[in-house]
Amino acid sequence: MKILHAARSLGGTEKMDDVLTTDVDFDVIVVGAGVAGCVTAYQLATKGHSVLLVERGQTPGSKNLSGGVFYCSIMEECMPGFIDEAPIERRITRNCLSFLSESSFVNVDYGDKRLKESVTAVSVLRAKLDEWLANKCEEAGVMLMSGVKVDTLVKENDSIVGIRAGEDELRAHVVVAADGVNSFICRDAGIRAKEPMKHLAVGVKSVIRLPRNVIEERFNLTGDEGVAYAVVGDCTNGVAGGGFLYTNLESLSIGVVLRLDDLVGKGYSSVELHDRFLTHPAIEPFLKEGELLEYGCHMVAEGGQDMVHDLTRAGLVVVGEAAGFALNTGFTVRGMDLAAGSGLAAARAIDAALLKGDYSKVSLDQYSAELDHTFVGKDMRTYAKAPYFLENPRMYGDYGKILSDVMYSVYNLDTTPRQHLLPGAMKALKKSPVKLTQIIKDMYAGVKAL
Ligand SMILES: Cc1cc2nc3c(=O)[nH]c(=O)nc-3n(C[C@H](O)[C@H](O)[C@H](O)COP(=O)(O)OP(=O)(O)OC[C@H]3O[C@@H](n4cnc5c(N)ncnc54)[C@H](O)[C@@H]3O)c2cc1C
Repeated sequence: MKILHAARSLGGTEKMDDVLTTDVDFDVIVVGAGVAGCVTAYQLATKGHSVLLVERGQTPGSKNLSGGVFYCSIMEECMPGFIDEAPIERRITRNCLSFLSESSFVNVDYGDKRLKESVTAVSVLRAKLDEWLANKCEEAGVMLMSGVKVDTLVKENDSIVGIRAGEDELRAHVVVAADGVNSFICRDAGIRAKEPMKHLAVGVKSVIRLPRNVIEERFNLTGDEGVAYAVVGDCTNGVAGGGFLYTNLESLSIGVVLRLDDLVGKGYSSVELHDRFLTHPAIEPFLKEGELLEYGCHMVAEGGQDMVHDLTRAGLVVVGEAAGFALNTGFTVRGMDLAAGSGLAAARAIDAALLKGDYSKVSLDQYSAELDHTFVGKDMRTYAKAPYFLENPRMYGDYGKILSDVMYSVYNLDTTPRQHLLPGAMKALKKSPVKLTQIIKDMYAGVKAL
């Protein structure tokens, strides 16, 4: 067993050697060293269990990509000291919602002293963050194996009893699927079939290097303060989705998230729309004289609650985006906090199962029950209608244009006699193909969904 030999030669602890003499190689095998996998592995190791964390990337984080705002309040519970020790770029103290039309932008720029006083959102770069998380796991006693792709699950009598990678087989009481949005493990376990395209989006992201002082001047920031832009409207050329721009210490994370069915249906390439966004007149000045450091594409779960399937099988627990936990509300893209929250709940349930020696589905279902009472289960339910609302094509063209025309009627002070705001807005609306009743219906749907 090559992997097992490698695991031993990597420096298995005495405790690990004890475990290797029993019928299982580890108490728990976690597949995927993203946020969900690392939190689960760390929590179980600190409770004294033997844990193997398998990651297909050569280093944790090398295969990962996020826009980069981590709503990180949950991390103090998952890994105490996170805020002080983790490789955080900036604290997000300002949020800007930007509506684009082809030639204009209308921004709602929200800053708040309260956001500066507590740290609830930070910008991160996944290559650094995931490596740090994996190091914390190793410090807690987790055996990390990078550069190993899990190929199949090992099943016996309807239970999952281990994993196979190449010719090697490893056994555990519980396997944790933390292998992200395209979770092959969930498919292998019969939990998920291939997701419909409307449940998936493709994200294309660049990291652009700029000197720290230039970022702070351009975005009006001081110290470690940061700003997050959520961009809607024309930035995707009518394709369902949006843009984002986040400030790091010495770089900007910028890109687009595009719903796959609409992207394919409209015949655009994701790269072309990413490049178009970066050259929009509202965006380009932010990037001036920047140097491209990183560029990548990654899928993201967009189906919301409809993408959440079974979370357990006998011997198997599913966490993070593999379980469908991701939320796009247009204001925020969330996945990392839900990954951490689900990892924490899973570790509690697995710990209880290990103590009882009962790895049946019924026993592991404590995870689903527990999750229901956490912010993960509750937020997934609260935003269950968000994906349907965001299917509305008017969000990606008409509304940016209407808003821009209303603002133009207010600020274009030529010699035409002025009108009050309401008649001016009504005139702009009359020019638009969208009827007032439709706008009211859309606003109502938005209020209910978001
Ligand atoms: C463009 C974009 C922007 C985003 N912006 C944000 C944002 O601003 N904020 C936010 O919170 N979320 C954001 N997300 C979502 C977020 O990135 C994910 O929800 C989150 O990373 C999910 O964490 P996870 O640990 O479940 O999975 P992942 O981070 O995807 O980790 C899964 C891990 O499993 C490994 N793996 C997969 N298959 C195997 C295998 N067979 N064997 C071994 N290892 C395997 C992978 O290499 C990877 O390391 C964004 C996503 C994209 C694509």
